[in-house]
Amino acid sequence: MKSLLTEEAIQLTKSLGQNFLHDGNQLERIIRASCLRATDRVLEIGPGLGPLTERLLDNSKEVLAIEKDRRLADILEKRFGERPEFKLEIQDALAFLKRGDQGLSPWKLISNLPYSVASRILVEATHEYVRGPERIVVTMQKEVVDRILCDPGKRQYGVITLLLRLNYEPLESFQIPRTCFHPIPDVDSCCVVLEKRKTPLLPSHRAPDFYRLVKISFGQRRKKLVNNLKPHWDMEIVKKALQDCGISDQLRGEKLSLTEFIDLTNALSPDV
Ligand code: SAM
Repeated sequence: MKSLLTEEAIQLTKSLGQNFLHDGNQLERIIRASCLRATDRVLEIGPGLGPLTERLLDNSKEVLAIEKDRRLADILEKRFGERPEFKLEIQDALAFLKRGDQGLSPWKLISNLPYSVASRILVEATHEYVRGPERIVVTMQKEVVDRILCDPGKRQYGVITLLLRLNYEPLESFQIPRTCFHPIPDVDSCCVVLEKRKTPLLPSHRAPDFYRLVKISFGQRRKKLVNNLKPHWDMEIVKKALQDCGISDQLRGEKLSLTEFIDLTNALSPDV
């Protein structure tokens, strides 16, 4: 990997999170966690020099790789361009996902994500149940994985926990030592496996209300939930909704479980 970078005279770009995973055991572990079938279509965001891409191609029907850095895309094109199951788009993954014309279902999202945009990429890829990939196996900073896996009331519990877990269930996670990357990153990394829920917990037209409620509830973390909701809803309606859901009006948002946020979403904006 190092000699390829030298040969191609590529100086890595820190802002693009270019820490490449070179450890064969960890790459195999990611492939095992992906449970790939020969019929699977895979979306890989940030393929870099392609160590994961190669294994994904060997184990699936098709890999669509989205790489922002043209220099790396040229290398990928040289490496895999002749394989018909390899598709490459040179662009920003967030813009690609926002474009929204690529239904990801029944795709799998398997990537060592660029860390600076990892959370935004995950939220963008999962926020619409029907279009979300069926399985997600992503490596990113451990701190974000801890937040995704966190239970209510803990320090790391927050917006990302709830947004992802509305449509996805975490299955497993494993830490990847810093020394497995080149160059060695400043933060710890973790791979997390998420599976799309068999049935959505909310109908799709109701999901935006849930996202809005969650974001407002954590607007000022130290405030009570009712005080965060006050500028956005009539207080009589909020108090009645909390009462109907059996939730104390003395709580902060961070104490509410996913189920309670779902109940509150339904109580605050009922279908008429
Ligand atoms: N998958 C490779 C590996 O494991 O060795 C590289 C992973 S590296 C952490 C992140 C990759 O994402 C880099 O190749 C970087 O150029 C690319 N990248 C960064 N920001 C991006 C974005 N917004 N859209 C697409 N690719 C991006």
